[in-house]
Amino acid sequence: ASGMSEPVTAPHILVTNDDGITSPGILALKDALAAVGRVTVLAPSRNWSASGHVKTMHKPLRVDEVTLPDGALALATDGAPSDSVALAFLGMVERPIDIVVSGINNGANLGHDVTYSGTVTAAMEGAIAGVPAIAVSLTERGHPDLSLAAQFAVRLTREVLARGLPPATLLNVNVPPVSTDELQGILVTRMGLRIYRDELVRRLDPRGRPYYWIGGPEPTGVEEEGTDIWAVAHGYISVTPLQLDLTARCMVEALTDWRLSL
Ligand code: MN
Repeated sequence: ASGMSEPVTAPHILVTNDDGITSPGILALKDALAAVGRVTVLAPSRNWSASGHVKTMHKPLRVDEVTLPDGALALATDGAPSDSVALAFLGMVERPIDIVVSGINNGANLGHDVTYSGTVTAAMEGAIAGVPAIAVSLTERGHPDLSLAAQFAVRLTREVLARGLPPATLLNVNVPPVSTDELQGILVTRMGLRIYRDELVRRLDPRGRPYYWIGGPEPTGVEEEGTDIWAVAHGYISVTPLQLDLTARCMVEALTDWRLSL
């Protein structure tokens, strides 16, 4: 040992989202995380909200270098959020990538939203690639102040880089639309129950053929204490640990007792 300190390598952070590369949320996240490490942005070129966990296999993907509003270079793809992360790990981005941070999403990702969410499934793709991953959402759509969500993303990213996460897990963060002064605190939560109020809207195209929209008002949720839905409704930042293992362990024994056979 020479007694000289080892050179410190800054962590390499992959930032993506599902609202598209032009979203203010991804710019705020990139800017904030520059304080933590070297940030590479690879994100969809358009809005993919509620696209779920996509692996594009039946068409080619394009990746273009683009300039963000602050002059920084980023990569934009016509693939999905999860494709963005896969592309990065398959060689579009210099390795190693130490962590994936997805967001800041324009709107909540609470309860069963995580199964629809491009923001969360991009983080899931990071977990599949074997690195820690965080999804960050600001629960009020169009909320102009991204600073609290960005500040907490920095804090949590530092924490996760220092501590790591268990394999095949990720953190889903939801930030309420409050100021730092109004924030009640930070709660570790479980997934709550969303109440979707979807309505089918039937219309006719110019040739008289029907088409359908899934419309209806915003989802609500069951405000049960301990859940993500309760936390943000009461002014807390919610941090929910998620795992890719979706096995319903509570059913294994009962299902075994079915003694299934042909
Ligand atoms: Mn979105």
